[in-house]
Amino acid sequence: MTGKNYLLFGPPGAGKGTQAKILEQQLSIPHVSTGDMFREHLKTGTELGKRVKEILAAGELVPDEITNEMVRQRLSLDDVARGVLLDGFPRNVAQAKFLDSILAEREASVGQVIVIELAESELVTRMKGRAEKEGRTDDADPAVIQNRIETYRRESEPCVAHYEGTAAVVTKVNGLGSIEEVTERILREI
Ligand code: AMP
Repeated sequence: MTGKNYLLFGPPGAGKGTQAKILEQQLSIPHVSTGDMFREHLKTGTELGKRVKEILAAGELVPDEITNEMVRQRLSLDDVARGVLLDGFPRNVAQAKFLDSILAEREASVGQVIVIELAESELVTRMKGRAEKEGRTDDADPAVIQNRIETYRRESEPCVAHYEGTAAVVTKVNGLGSIEEVTERILREI
């Protein structure tokens, strides 16, 4: 792998998926979302989909061995050779260390970590809107929303500190405003 690898972080509802789809075009590198991959398994009713259904519905994290293996396979495909934009992975420090190790095997590393920051009240409003628009059941239930936000703070945010201790550039971006404004803020930092 010779290109630059990016990670997109932020609490659920911060706009990671929306921004990732735009950045994929702008940077001409594939966007890999573990949440999208799991939802695709659910939709097509695979064995993996059946195993993770309840976990996604509850807003819990899928066990690392399942998630890491899915990511390892995805990152072995040729299209990521020129860089990748990961969205929703890693979600805890163990996954971050796993990612670092598989990239290191290819003499690659995480180049930049982009953290989209947004206040909790705004996250909840956005997720409720998304539940209506996209029919995501994990966005509809207030207890599940709360669980996902808390899981992000407890498990995923420490990944940012992990990358602050590496050669990766860590960039924090204000997620409030229009989609275009946030994209603009991110592109300025890349
Ligand atoms: P997302 O679309 O990124 O919000 O992910 C939706 C759901 O998929 C999460 O609430 C988790 O249940 C699961 N998921 C996505 N990415 C991961 C990951 N890296 N590790 C564990 N579970 C994940």
